[in-house]
Amino acid sequence: MSIKKKSRLVYPIIVPTSYGKVGTINSYIINDGDSLSLIDAGIHTEKYKDALITTLAANGYRISDLSRILLTHHHEDHVGLVNWILQKKDIPVYAHHEAVPRLMVEQEFLVMRKNFFTELYISMGCIEEAQPRLEKLQQTIEHKNENTLQTIIRPLGEGDSILGMKVLETPGHSADSISFYDEERQWLLAGDVVLKKTTSNAIVDPDIKGNRLPTVKQHKESLKRLQQLDVEYLFAGHQEIIEDHHNVISQKLDKIQHKANRLYSFINEGTHLPKEIAQNLYGHKFNTEFSLVMSEVIGYLDYLEEEGLIEKSLQNGIWHYKALK
Ligand SMILES: [Zn+2]
Repeated sequence: MSIKKKSRLVYPIIVPTSYGKVGTINSYIINDGDSLSLIDAGIHTEKYKDALITTLAANGYRISDLSRILLTHHHEDHVGLVNWILQKKDIPVYAHHEAVPRLMVEQEFLVMRKNFFTELYISMGCIEEAQPRLEKLQQTIEHKNENTLQTIIRPLGEGDSILGMKVLETPGHSADSISFYDEERQWLLAGDVVLKKTTSNAIVDPDIKGNRLPTVKQHKESLKRLQQLDVEYLFAGHQEIIEDHHNVISQKLDKIQHKANRLYSFINEGTHLPKEIAQNLYGHKFNTEFSLVMSEVIGYLDYLEEEGLIEKSLQNGIWHYKALK
């Protein structure tokens, strides 16, 4: 299957997966007539390698025909085959500049990131529950050489353009999320910013300098920005290709508002501690999916605070939240 417009083709690679709850892991090959570009590189499994090889072969190509890789963000289900492809052919890899320390697994960045999360979980009153997460972050530091991309990444940012596509910074899901917009064809490759069926979480993370990013607000702004574009096909990082992006995004924005309202009402009714808010909202998932749940709660607390609906005060080193209106 391919999608064609104005002498350019997209070959989607959509592979069912049990990874997370995302349904499929997608990447896309763009054939611009002169060269082939891979947008995102799936996950590191034999099944995904097969899918990439098969899609290329079905159109008369091989791995060695690829000319470049473009990454929408640094998560492992989007960069999985980069090193494997580079072993076969050394081609340029492009990603947002915030992706560079994450993909190059830079020591200084990883140590900063672990300290960032340690302090964050202490101040959110859940340092005990956070131990497995912190151990994982430590493991990443110790095994960093195994995970590093074997290349120099070419950084992209807002205002850049590549293959005639505009690079749009669309952070929230991750600090380095970018979308590629082919205005002429009304094609949008948006990584995980908009998924058809599941909510792509705004995930708490520090930027390169160690500042906590206002992820929910960023995600909301990114969604609004993409909604305004003329789009025929939105090529998403998971699930099906979206043909009614305006409606899909409206629903996402409603959900964000709904969740913000729920959190606010908990606080308004007298739940003041982040940990208790998380337990009220997510029940046993607070323990089984600690990292995602806490990320979500912290993201929304920051959001409500920025909106002037709540305020926080430090008591014995732990933030207490209070409703303002
Ligand atoms: Zn993903």
